[in-house]
Amino acid sequence: MQQPALILKPGKEKPVLNRHPWIFSGAVRNLPNAEAGDIVAVKSAEGRLLGYGHFAPGRTLICRLFAFTGSELHITADWWMEKLRDALRYRRSLPGLEGTTGYRLVHAEGDGLPGVVIDLFGRTASVQLRTEGARNLQSVITQFLTQQMDLVNVYVQTEKEGNEDKDGKGEWIAGGPGENEFVENGIRFHADVETGQKTGFFLDQRDNRAMLRTFAAGRKVANLFSYTGGFSMYALAGGAREVLSVDLSEPANEKCRTHAALNFGATAAHTALKADCFAYLKEMPADEFDLVVLDPPAFTKHASTVDRAARGYKEINLKALQKIAPGGFLFTFSCSQHISKDLFRKIVFGAAADAGRAVRLVSQLTQAPDHPVSIFHPEGEYLKGLVLQVS
Ligand code: SAH
Repeated sequence: MQQPALILKPGKEKPVLNRHPWIFSGAVRNLPNAEAGDIVAVKSAEGRLLGYGHFAPGRTLICRLFAFTGSELHITADWWMEKLRDALRYRRSLPGLEGTTGYRLVHAEGDGLPGVVIDLFGRTASVQLRTEGARNLQSVITQFLTQQMDLVNVYVQTEKEGNEDKDGKGEWIAGGPGENEFVENGIRFHADVETGQKTGFFLDQRDNRAMLRTFAAGRKVANLFSYTGGFSMYALAGGAREVLSVDLSEPANEKCRTHAALNFGATAAHTALKADCFAYLKEMPADEFDLVVLDPPAFTKHASTVDRAARGYKEINLKALQKIAPGGFLFTFSCSQHISKDLFRKIVFGAAADAGRAVRLVSQLTQAPDHPVSIFHPEGEYLKGLVLQVS
């Protein structure tokens, strides 16, 4: 089938030849005769076929490519199925997922499926379709999950394009709520797919939580921006003396308490506190905690507000670095796509300088390997973390 062609301006084919999946409207010479979400053939000004993408008319990000090829493709349901099978094969090839039943099956551009995110929690799939093109794949995705995999419940959230960071409206396409317990490195969790944040659980931090577990023995831990307590449960599993989880969301705190009871019984040395972490950090007693986690939500979703976000990151890191007990560790993160790894380091190093304490950089962290980044699309590397030791 001939797809309508989107033709680039002269010289604008370079990034596409380098497999960068995004085309901005300014790079387009001729628009295709196509609707939102349609598949278009992307061509250079000279008419050379470069690949195929989903069209998003009227958007700055006007096309997202999912195939880079100079050969004509016949894109059928089975073609998409093969992409999904490839994503599954990759996960099955990863080490470290034994004893883990919650993982990301599809990570958008990182799997050549822009706009598609699929997290699996036991036999429940939590799907986010973030573009019109991705939404057109709903039935093939559901078919794959229920027929080729052993999934029973499929929850799909769709988002208005341009609002990709907002949690969308969802519905159960197969099964229903209930069976959403999963195990991560031997720890039991419930994913809150319907009312929780994003897909219901932040799987991207799995390896970082596992690392924290190895630092936790005997320590008093403050997990700030704790959501449903991912880091807190690993701290308890690692033998922390006491764990405090702090989050503004009471439903998240309630889930966090449930997770503590589920894994460690009613007498777990854990408290979940409802508070604004900015305010809490001002009040936090000095020298009390010797392991602190800062994992805030993205402080900016746009390039235009990076400065304000940077001030937010600086403030919480400064407070934490001032107050950590001597010899203690800070695990600090940013998931803002617009804050680069270098900028985040600079912000945290600035906070360390202002705290006036000797700080060792122990380790640099990123998202777990089931959240892969296309090497041609560095924007996909969104999660940055630093482990610091404070003397
Ligand atoms: N570390 C978590 C994920 C954190 S998501 C995990 O591993 O699962 C960010 C959390 O920050 C959300 O739960 C949100 O409710 C909370 N939050 C956002 N702003 C906050 C604030 N000012 N004070 C406290 N919590 C906040």
